[in-house]
Amino acid sequence: MPLEPYEEVSHPSFEEEAAKEFSFTQLGPGTAELRGPCPRCRTVIRVPVVTSTYKSFRLWRRSRAQQLPPPGEVHEEIVICTCEEDHPGRPADRIGCGAFWRLEITSA
Ligand SMILES: [Zn+2]
Ligand SMILES: [Zn+2]
Repeated sequence: MPLEPYEEVSHPSFEEEAAKEFSFTQLGPGTAELRGPCPRCRTVIRVPVVTSTYKSFRLWRRSRAQQLPPPGEVHEEIVICTCEEDHPGRPADRIGCGAFWRLEITSA
């Protein structure tokens, strides 16, 4: 299957899919890792998260029924695809397929 061309793009469905499919592992106080498939090119990527203001935090899986933010502070993490595939048209100084999306993390 040919690879999608590199394109800096975001879409609301990226956010929804990533919130469902990414797992969140707390590594230590204020340090965690997000891991899951890029919603655009499906390569599993790992994203370190450092949120020194929170001792404990978790990925917030927003559902359609849940319009209100959960209690506690919400931190927005912008995730950029960091796959190592050779997407056509990618500038030499970039990595990934260009997709980016937002994940919300809340203090637990
Ligand atoms: Zn890719
Ligand atoms: Zn990607």
